[in-house]
Amino acid sequence: MRFPSIPTVIRTFHTLINVTSRITSQSRTAGLHPAPRITLLKSMPTIPFFGSLFSSSSNKMSKHNFPVKKTEGEWQAILSPEQFRILRMKGTEMSGTGKYDKHHPKTGIYNCAGCDAPLYKATHKFDSGCGWPAFYDALPGAIREEEDNSGWMERTEIMCANCGGHLGHIFKGEGRKELPKDERHCVNSVSINFSPDDTTDGINGESKV
Ligand SMILES: [Zn+2]
Repeated sequence: MRFPSIPTVIRTFHTLINVTSRITSQSRTAGLHPAPRITLLKSMPTIPFFGSLFSSSSNKMSKHNFPVKKTEGEWQAILSPEQFRILRMKGTEMSGTGKYDKHHPKTGIYNCAGCDAPLYKATHKFDSGCGWPAFYDALPGAIREEEDNSGWMERTEIMCANCGGHLGHIFKGEGRKELPKDERHCVNSVSINFSPDDTTDGINGESKV
């Protein structure tokens, strides 16, 4: 999975935001512009240009019905800004930066960072070399797939079956004969939390929240 232009655009965008924020801050100090910085940040996801570049299909209703339902505000209250950007706005972390990219425990479970539902076993994980955590299979019923034609690419999005949180994308039939299943679930580290506890109670839609 490659996004050659997005990191550059992200850096450019952040630079613009930082510059704008400094100007706003300086203006506020001078008593010329009372608007607080938070207003600017909160408005970011609603900018159409921003949304079309950094989201997979956030403007489209999912065909799936997820057991855990929360409003955007409720998700923002329990997720970090980065978790919200990726899980709920279908963003992508930069390649090679995720904490689970090179994480290869022998046992344990990767749970959804949004609702804590178990998604993948440590034994499902393999080193794909793509810069994101990769799994060749998921726990039964733990994820949902949906066609994603955003970003000028035809891909299949994968989501947590319990809360609909965006995990990443799935690639099938890449010729990985060394794996029990020829699939690559390319997952953002931000979307998952590792637990060394290997029990999978609560699977198939039952939330721990
Ligand atoms: Zn979830």
